[in-house]
Amino acid sequence: MQPISEKQCIFSSEEIKKSIVTADNITPFHLYHGDRILENGKKMLSAFRQYFPSYTNFFAVKATPNPHILSLLKSIGMGVDCSSLAELLLAEKVGLKGNEIMFTSNNTPKSEYIKAYELGATINLDDITQIDYLHDALGGKMPEMVSLRYNPGPLKNGNCFIGKPQEAKFGLTGEQLFEAYAKLKSLGVSRFGLHCMVASNELKLEYFEETAVLLFETLVAVAKKLDIGFEMVNLGGGIGIPYRLDQTAVDFYRLAQLIDGQFQKIVVPAQLKQLPSIVTECGRVVTGPYGVLVTKAIHSKSIYREYIGVDACMANLMRPGMYNAYHYMSVLDSEKRDDQTTKKYDIVGSLCENNDKFAVDRELPVISRDDVIIIHDTGAHGHSMGFNYNGKLRSAEYILLGDQIKCIRRAETYDDLFRTLDFDLKL
Ligand SMILES: *Cc1c(COP(=O)(O)O)cnc(C)c1O
Repeated sequence: MQPISEKQCIFSSEEIKKSIVTADNITPFHLYHGDRILENGKKMLSAFRQYFPSYTNFFAVKATPNPHILSLLKSIGMGVDCSSLAELLLAEKVGLKGNEIMFTSNNTPKSEYIKAYELGATINLDDITQIDYLHDALGGKMPEMVSLRYNPGPLKNGNCFIGKPQEAKFGLTGEQLFEAYAKLKSLGVSRFGLHCMVASNELKLEYFEETAVLLFETLVAVAKKLDIGFEMVNLGGGIGIPYRLDQTAVDFYRLAQLIDGQFQKIVVPAQLKQLPSIVTECGRVVTGPYGVLVTKAIHSKSIYREYIGVDACMANLMRPGMYNAYHYMSVLDSEKRDDQTTKKYDIVGSLCENNDKFAVDRELPVISRDDVIIIHDTGAHGHSMGFNYNGKLRSAEYILLGDQIKCIRRAETYDDLFRTLDFDLKL
């Protein structure tokens, strides 16, 4: 028999049951562990601050765009990284402003640059053409500080999620950077940043170390050639989490140490006008492991394979259907059963799409109707990737803080879904 409950759930069985009562027995829903998010966030900050005292992480809002989560992270000194107008508006509502906001967008409309500028956000440009476009959007002004996103192209091997940098739509080439910073300087920009993000869900420390080397070498070359100072290096997001049992979490202390090693080797001896601060814009590693999707089995079906139908679907968690992502699953209280029999199932939702599966051929405890199934590691890029195909409603979000479970987003209703429709049929 397979061992089946190896990955410990971040919530106790009692906490899951309490959340179901709080939710009036309405599943599915996302549940976050507020205290664990805070504890992990503090650990990340203090690890990097040992080497880089002015370090902070700008939490990528798209990972978990909920004001309560943003506010918790703000309380421990994290900023936010926004890529759209909606994300800027959320940041504003939470009371973030100025250098607490990073704006790393691409293919950006004017209105978003204007909002980012009004909030005093640090704007990260994705292309050389965006310098004139931004200048124009701001009516001939430029922010005091501008950062540029570097795409190292052939200098960097692809990460399996983002793909080869040469084929990625993001950033400026190494050559363009020189011309772009010179242009920014001529337009009166006096403070500069450099950004790079070429990985997603990456667990290998060496990958981030390599990126840091590329960034540091580029920064030194540009700073010397153009005689400018750099205030900030943004290492991007993309730190992975152990979705699978055989994976290990990134050690923040070790990572910070490796990056500092390269900083001491490349940046410090270059005797630049100023030493840049180091920042990141991670989302997944901040909240990912500290959320679960709670769903119930509603049907079983035995044809060429064994299926369990649950009340959640791809609209609540898109990652497995979209890119075959693995999410560990457990069945509530199955470890207390006398009979520890397991069975291989496909765990499926109700969309009219055959990729609406949370797991394929997965060994799980035998599942019956109304069993509670917990899908792990949905704290980032979970609820936020939701959609309304087949008219599916997006679920509520709850958070555990201390011994309290609070609703931080109610579930959508059919009124919400139909709000944009006109039912007056006499056109
Ligand atoms: C998605 C994204 C992030 C966050 O990525 P994670 O994998 O959640 O860390 C950060 N910056 C940019 C520009 C992104 O697009």
